Amino acid sequence: MSDKTRGQILKDELFYKKQSAFETKTAEELASAMDYASGYMKWLDSSKTEREAVKASAALLEAAGYRPYKVGDPIRAGDRLYLNNRGKSLFAIHVGTESIENGVRICAAHIDSPRLDLKQHPLYENEGIAYFKTHYYGGIRKYQWVTIPLALHGVVTKADGETVEIRIGDEAGDPVLCISDLLPHLAKDQNGRALGQAFTGEGLNVMLGSAPFFEEDGKMTPADEKIKLNIMILLNEKYGITEADFMSAELSIVPAQNAVDVGLDRWLIGGYGHDDRVCSYPALTSLIEAEDSPRTCMAVLADKEEIGSVGISGMQCVLLADLIDELAKELGGNPNVVRSNSKCLSADVTACFDPNYPEVYEKRNSSLLHCGVGLSKYTGSGGKGGTNDASAELVACVRKIFDDAGVIWQTAELGRVDQGGGGTVAMYIADHNIETVDIGVPVISMHAPFEIISKSDLYEAHKAFAAFCK
Ligand code: MN
Ligand code: MN
Repeated sequence: MSDKTRGQILKDELFYKKQSAFETKTAEELASAMDYASGYMKWLDSSKTEREAVKASAALLEAAGYRPYKVGDPIRAGDRLYLNNRGKSLFAIHVGTESIENGVRICAAHIDSPRLDLKQHPLYENEGIAYFKTHYYGGIRKYQWVTIPLALHGVVTKADGETVEIRIGDEAGDPVLCISDLLPHLAKDQNGRALGQAFTGEGLNVMLGSAPFFEEDGKMTPADEKIKLNIMILLNEKYGITEADFMSAELSIVPAQNAVDVGLDRWLIGGYGHDDRVCSYPALTSLIEAEDSPRTCMAVLADKEEIGSVGISGMQCVLLADLIDELAKELGGNPNVVRSNSKCLSADVTACFDPNYPEVYEKRNSSLLHCGVGLSKYTGSGGKGGTNDASAELVACVRKIFDDAGVIWQTAELGRVDQGGGGTVAMYIADHNIETVDIGVPVISMHAPFEIISKSDLYEAHKAFAAFCK
């Protein structure tokens, strides 16, 4: 019994209506989303660099019965394997029981995030303060990195080959590091500059300490650079490193803040590195959940996306193709057939419509908060330059998978036409003749030291990837 007019009924039938998780999900499903988010937050806190993310992910996979694999090892149907690529990227493979020539379902996310890397000669002293020189990594807005608590994460490999792990600033009681900024009283000149020019890369020097080394008699050392010396001694005592060891190190300055609930209703998560760990975690959990799937599925956690997917740990490396070759060879298939029948979700975050800045979005085509995982047919900039423009057929295929599984999803576009733009790993995967489409969790304040995502969108990402793996 409906009082609707024919026009209203036809409108319901013919028009698309975007809906949020709150409109469509049961109380039970919403509670599951909350639960799932707490697991993500824990994993995120232990994954502040790509190396840490590889470690935390390997632990998750091991607990689910996955075992280490290296290129050339035998592969059997039913195997659950993971390849730790030099500690910086990771490939997890659920080997299915059906023919490998049916193709592989791949979820490819990235675990590197914008940050400040230490230079190779980072440590110096200036007017009573010891500092680290940094070189920023990825697209940062420099002003966001001053006057916030910072942590030091990474590895130092000594000349003898021993690698020590450094992590200062995150544990309770740890000191934090910081970059200073001008006081408003003296910022007249700086305030007059354009935002993009007001802060320089060479100005992002991290404050490390301010006390000199004291000799055994309790007196300040007469040596030069006594504050730098004190810092070097503290590092040497804790990690056994000397200044020369910085030359063979990968040390990063990252926000000291851990992930926290945002908002009184606790439906948002604020934290560092949601881009793209918020897609990496669902890529892992959905793969683990796919344990009964007859299909071969893969989760890829790539490095170097933020600087162009370059290098041996980036998505442009041939390792993905090598792994598909190995799967084909070991399971009795033609690798070219495997590739052409494979499909990939390039799982990377998208820009969430931000009501504070409506002028840079075209709302009709933007992803909205709590309206589910965002599917981007294309990314890129200008006239779609630098994008993998997914086909109508692939989008329809993925659409059906999501709709059948009850996944809340929406389309996404990275801002207004000609406003800017960006790319992902999608096109590098498509280069292997693997059908690929971009999909990911909408993020507010993307690339900021404190990014914001929705717990319901995060959960829908997990559900979407899990449906894709089935
Ligand atoms: Mn990304
Ligand atoms: Mn990014």
